[in-house]
Amino acid sequence: MNTVVQLRTSNLDLRLAQEDRLEDAGRLAPDDRMTCHVHGRWIHQCASSAAHVNQVTRHRWCRECRTALTVAVDELTLTVHMSCPACGDGRSAATRRLEAACEASLSYTKGRPAALAS
Ligand SMILES: [Zn+2]
Ligand SMILES: [Zn+2]
Repeated sequence: MNTVVQLRTSNLDLRLAQEDRLEDAGRLAPDDRMTCHVHGRWIHQCASSAAHVNQVTRHRWCRECRTALTVAVDELTLTVHMSCPACGDGRSAATRRLEAACEASLSYTKGRPAALAS
């Protein structure tokens, strides 16, 4: 480990690298990551991207309406809610897990860390 490099990189970069390692080692589920390795951001900052919609696993996908859910991030209450623009719900187990990961990253960046494996 190179501590000089670590000191110069941001908290996000450190967390990204840490979660990449934990995920590769099978110690962290992709769904539970607070960072996104595709976008290089905190998950709540990019969960509204189309890349986070998955029709198979039903992350952010309403099966009934065949529609992507929209994402509402509330920085005040540190909550993230996803809902179908057509039926108003459309959430799945995968979507709830994505919401939980987004709320964890939101809380983490606001200095109120949620319970996390480190
Ligand atoms: Zn992303
Ligand atoms: Zn719907």
